[in-house]
Amino acid sequence: MSRPTSLAALHRSLGIPADYGRTRHMRAFREAKVATLVRVGRHPADKKPVRLAPRAAAAWRRMREAAAAEGITLIPLSGFRSVARQTKIIRHHLAAGRDPADLFRYVAAPGFSEHHTGRAIDIGDPEDMSVEEKFANTAAYRWLRRHAGKFGFVMSYPRHNPHGIGYEPWHWCWHA
Ligand SMILES: [Zn+2]
Repeated sequence: MSRPTSLAALHRSLGIPADYGRTRHMRAFREAKVATLVRVGRHPADKKPVRLAPRAAAAWRRMREAAAAEGITLIPLSGFRSVARQTKIIRHHLAAGRDPADLFRYVAAPGFSEHHTGRAIDIGDPEDMSVEEKFANTAAYRWLRRHAGKFGFVMSYPRHNPHGIGYEPWHWCWHA
């Protein structure tokens, strides 16, 4: 899946245009090595483990502790996601009749999700684990806006981002 040719074939099979990366100013990401991933928690609802690459996991733990010291709870909802998993999610939505143009506003094409790197994490607040825009109304989000940068986390998809991805206040990516 990591070879460009097979990714291109996969995209064709999903109806994703060949110029997807170029027109969206997005690049393909290498998958993190699964054996090196560190578990940082579980999704509170589906109990799936949330895993990050080692340095991102360490930064996440520091950030989570700093938030907790101020009475703010940051809940890890989703971390590493493989290309295969991303493909499965997309096939599921397409099979359910979801309009592809709309779908790809919210879900990155396989190979192009920051979650492949193990450096991106979707974050919830005890009051809101919806991964919807309203997460921006939570205490966790307000705290992240003020402090996440100090821990190396950047909100990848603000409003009107150049990638054609919807506003994702819950999605943060660690950069070394
Ligand atoms: Zn995300």
